[in-house]
Amino acid sequence: MSDKRTDYISWDEYFMGVAMMSAMRSKDPGTQVGACIVSPDNRILSMGYNGFPNGCSDEDFPWKREGAPLENKYFYTTHSELNAILNYRGTVSLEGAKIYVTLFPCNECAKAIIQAGIKTVVYADDKYAKTDSVIASKMMLKAAGVEIIKYKNTDRSITLTL
Ligand SMILES: [Zn+2]
Repeated sequence: MSDKRTDYISWDEYFMGVAMMSAMRSKDPGTQVGACIVSPDNRILSMGYNGFPNGCSDEDFPWKREGAPLENKYFYTTHSELNAILNYRGTVSLEGAKIYVTLFPCNECAKAIIQAGIKTVVYADDKYAKTDSVIASKMMLKAAGVEIIKYKNTDRSITLTL
């Protein structure tokens, strides 16, 4: 009989937890999204959250949703999934990797996920399911053979003292 701990977190809790913690880095007052890319053998390869590109200061660029195109956030933000793909600094391909996301990827991120060779999307929230963006995203992911898995919430609460 093994003496190992039995209350350790699962792989899914670990990776979704990392995605959730990444989201906490976002400066966006409206939406904080995190992503964590994992190899087929469960090694974390990259992480990301929604934010402006390097050098584009949060003090100078707008975070609001309203206003003219140049005065709201949409032209300027990079989504967490794209950031996680672009932040990847490893040498092995992302082919066959999994991506854990706190929010279902939009159509633009779906294209990047497919082209990066990521084969599984594990998502937590899908609150924009009825939008054309997410409908298009699912059409493309399915056509490309990307497996879509709803994260099973375990209701485990983790407190970190930082
Ligand atoms: Zn996106």
